[in-house]
Amino acid sequence: MPKKLNAPLNAIITGSTSGIGLGIATAFAAEGWNVMLNGFGDAGEIEAARAGLEEKQGVTVLYNGADMTRPEEIRTLISESEAAFDQIDVLVNNAGIQHVSPIEDFPDEKWDAIIAINLSSAFHTTKAVMAGMKERGFGRIINVASAHGLVASPFKSAYVAAKHGIVGFTKAIALEGAEFGVTSNAICPGYVKTPLVEKQIPDTAKARGISEEEVINDVMLASQPTKQFVSVDEIGALAVFLCSEKAASITGAAHQIDGGWVAH
Ligand code: NAD
Repeated sequence: MPKKLNAPLNAIITGSTSGIGLGIATAFAAEGWNVMLNGFGDAGEIEAARAGLEEKQGVTVLYNGADMTRPEEIRTLISESEAAFDQIDVLVNNAGIQHVSPIEDFPDEKWDAIIAINLSSAFHTTKAVMAGMKERGFGRIINVASAHGLVASPFKSAYVAAKHGIVGFTKAIALEGAEFGVTSNAICPGYVKTPLVEKQIPDTAKARGISEEEVINDVMLASQPTKQFVSVDEIGALAVFLCSEKAASITGAAHQIDGGWVAH
């Protein structure tokens, strides 16, 4: 039986202890949906975020600390979520890391970690949820890619490769799910001021030989015609819409939310 769309959805969001993932979790909980959080961080802060969302919205919010570089931990994340929620309706592949360096000095282990977390983890999560979604005739897979899934910047070779990869993966899964009520979409944000971006400001300054203020104004916001960072609330609202009944025909698409970055 297809899921009743007015029923609360059950969602897993990887990398949701911070930034965009936590923003999407907050938006989902506000819709009355149950959420499995995932990611690293201070145990007390994660528990406070989990309990706070649960209490404020009256939904079930759980946490599993699976490391997205470890396929067996990813499978446990999915099986624990299914055991807790009975079924998974929404999967958001959001966990991601960045490393900024010229290719000549790019550490091999950073390449491997970025490909594992930003790309391969989505293969493992999607593989584990797809059969159930197809069987129930409803599923929403959202991959948080990036403007860097559509265009490149120097010194981010691994990240750009992983993000272009996940846009392609999104399309392949859209075709596999199309006749089963399972949609697959990529969200491609521009710069959002999260810890991931804060951390790369000094590295970009070093790689380009400019000040941190110049990185913000002349590199990051220069990419975005609006000259504004994108907010996590805006991304959360788009993710909610992509999960709705009205978004049933939106699949295989890469949705830019980047202040006009890739338009110019
Ligand atoms: P963030 O650093 O605030 O959050 C990243 C999340 O991923 C955290 O919860 C972290 O604990 C988790 N994580 C990292 N490594 C993990 C691992 N091995 N296993 C499990 N979880 C892990 O960063 P963010 O900016 O919120 O980024 C979220 C996603 O959005 C990433 O995929 C990123 O590439 C993408 N993105 C970010 C921006 C931006 O400007 N911030 C722009 C475009 C795309």
